[in-house]
Amino acid sequence: MKATLTTCPYCGTGCNFYLLSDAQGGLLGVEPAGHHPTTRGQLCIKGWNAHAFVDHPERLKTPLIRKNDSLQPTDWQTALDLLHAKLSGIARKHGPDSLMFLSSAKVSNEENYLLMKLARAGYGTNNIDHCARLCHSSTVTGLVETLGSGAMTNSLSCFEETDLIFVIGSNTTEQHPLIGSRILQAVQRGARLIVADSRKIRLSRHADLHLRHQNGSDVALLNGMMRQILQDGLEDRAFIEGRTENFAELQQSLDPFTPDQVAHITGLQSGQIIDASRLFAGADKAMLVYAMGITQHSHGVDNVRAVSNLALLTGNLGRPGTGINPLRGQNNVQGACDMGALPDVFSGYQQVADPLVRQKFSCAWGVKLPGTQGLMSTHAIEAAAEGRLHGMLILGENPMISDANQALVRKGLEALEFLAVIDIFPTETVQLADLVLPAACYAEREGTYTSTERRVQRGRKAVDPPGEARADWQILRALLQRCGLPGDYADPAEIMTEIASLTPSYGGISYPRLEGEGLQWPCPDGAHPGTPILHREQCTRGKGRFSPVAYRPSMELPDADYPLLLNTGRTNVHWHTGSMTRRSHLLDREERQAFVEINPEDATRHQLSDRQQLRISSRRGSITLAVRLTDRVPPGQVFIPFHFAEGAANALTNNILDPESGIPEFKVCAVRIEPC
Ligand code: SF4
Repeated sequence: MKATLTTCPYCGTGCNFYLLSDAQGGLLGVEPAGHHPTTRGQLCIKGWNAHAFVDHPERLKTPLIRKNDSLQPTDWQTALDLLHAKLSGIARKHGPDSLMFLSSAKVSNEENYLLMKLARAGYGTNNIDHCARLCHSSTVTGLVETLGSGAMTNSLSCFEETDLIFVIGSNTTEQHPLIGSRILQAVQRGARLIVADSRKIRLSRHADLHLRHQNGSDVALLNGMMRQILQDGLEDRAFIEGRTENFAELQQSLDPFTPDQVAHITGLQSGQIIDASRLFAGADKAMLVYAMGITQHSHGVDNVRAVSNLALLTGNLGRPGTGINPLRGQNNVQGACDMGALPDVFSGYQQVADPLVRQKFSCAWGVKLPGTQGLMSTHAIEAAAEGRLHGMLILGENPMISDANQALVRKGLEALEFLAVIDIFPTETVQLADLVLPAACYAEREGTYTSTERRVQRGRKAVDPPGEARADWQILRALLQRCGLPGDYADPAEIMTEIASLTPSYGGISYPRLEGEGLQWPCPDGAHPGTPILHREQCTRGKGRFSPVAYRPSMELPDADYPLLLNTGRTNVHWHTGSMTRRSHLLDREERQAFVEINPEDATRHQLSDRQQLRISSRRGSITLAVRLTDRVPPGQVFIPFHFAEGAANALTNNILDPESGIPEFKVCAVRIEPC
């Protein structure tokens, strides 16, 4: 039996485990890494089952071309030649910006870097983006503005030394289970816990305070807490004076957020707001933890600014046990951002609009590069639906299930002149493709992944891919060569050498140095030990900037026609669009079908019973799924996990976007229900 150490393909916690395989190349199971700083011999249910989908019979094994309205097998040479001919033909006919490249937080740093290079250098467009647009684009925009770096400021080890954890908009035990365990361990040793979430979540059972504020009212809550902290004189004056700017503007902006006014907006009691502010500001070391409950709003960037303001006001930055800690979703969403799979930056967040940066990449790649910011993925779908975008290459993503307003996504993808998808399973998006390329999964290829705490670590090949499937980096290498670009990489280690040479924060990262526990960026040179805590002496931008924000309600609230608020999210056994977890026997057994959580009060009003089938509709679509009666959701709210294609939550969600980050408002829209 062979044991291959690798990184979990699911959440951004970055657990490491051994994949156990037999002499015939079959996977037998998973063994958690005992020595690893995050894993410590433990995994969640998804990690323990991460081997289960790898040899599923539905794996894509050969390239497929659409002929006579069906996908038919072809060979790699034909498929790659056709892909290059179509993309370059569309670029010649309609211009390079008529193409879109959609990368993935599931593929490695090296693969994200190559797709970024292919879009910019190979086909001449900055239209490159990935699924961080749907989860943490608000974080990148908000934290870059206030601190200069859009990443988690601290490390997971900080949970061991903090005095207080404020979890707002993160169902941590379900989405990042091992981080959830760290939080519960901290509570057990005496740390205080505040949870702000409209739903009852597992963490709220252990919280000193559970604030069930109205979805979308986070700015009001956070501003109200800050106003109260100032009124009580609990702010950190030395930190504010020495390390921040724009304080007077913040102070003025908080005036309207009296406890009574905040109570009116949030649905909380004014005393709860006062208690929360005193508890938070009274802690010597407090950590702010958030996820998509903060980011997935039409005012997601404002929410992030408000979180950052609270940390700066109380001096909770740059020290162990403190910090602003956005929990990144997929295992490489941090890395995909770091690698510049974004429309405005090259790797290391180097701006495409900066002529000196462009010159550096032009010299390295030997081509002139475009300097205009490209399309965000959410705008690209709209552009495709309006006939302004003609070709798209999607790498390992499933927008038909993951993106808001499924009808619009279908219209956009169907309107394209040419759609190519690289994936491991025949997803709902693959079904619409003109060309499909079969990829190796995480267990079948080498690469690196960057976890939520900025830890760059190895993924290692344990078994061969099925049939003719190839690693994504090999597919992208073949396309780079067809574009006439130098790209004869022997392996991903060579790609990382190029990344390090062009990306200051990854300058000291190389495969030999990642053999142990990985390295946390910034790691600027080969002797640098990595950076567990950001902003220690000063922020990346110099002074931390207070960024005042006004409260703006969500864009579509319940009304007479659609009287309930829809909240969407995940369950602990499934991952995103379910393409891997729903093909894992034990995970599928745990949660087989789509469901909607409804409060018993609403159920009584609508004469609904548990497990009954229900039609639920918004202004964008209708789905049918099973009722789950529970007081986890408050009256007036329903909750649907978005994993299930047959009851797709995103058939209902609102594609209204945050004007700065382009993230859709997944957490709030209006729906109505009717028994089937
Ligand atoms: S917590 Fe996340 S990284 Fe760790 S085993 Fe579970 S899914 Fe994998």
